[in-house]
Amino acid sequence: MNQLTVKEARDLCETVLATRDVEIGCDDCLMQVARYCETELAGKEFPKALRLVREHLEICAECHEEYQALLSAMLEREPDRRGRLY
Ligand SMILES: [Zn+2]
Repeated sequence: MNQLTVKEARDLCETVLATRDVEIGCDDCLMQVARYCETELAGKEFPKALRLVREHLEICAECHEEYQALLSAMLEREPDRRGRLY
């Protein structure tokens, strides 16, 4: 195990804090929202990129509408998956 120096540890903290503020825009969100829905329906863990999508969906009503429309379309196509979500 490598021991972090104080400076390295501080740099690491700054990196973590800086990346927490990263937000994606509507375009990025809509590009990935289909994958987000699939991941959600599959009950899989969201990778980092999709966690950003989720954050965006929480703050953006427009994308959230898009997401819900897509999600219900997917559920209609595969009704057997419905039980996992509700
Ligand atoms: Zn948006």
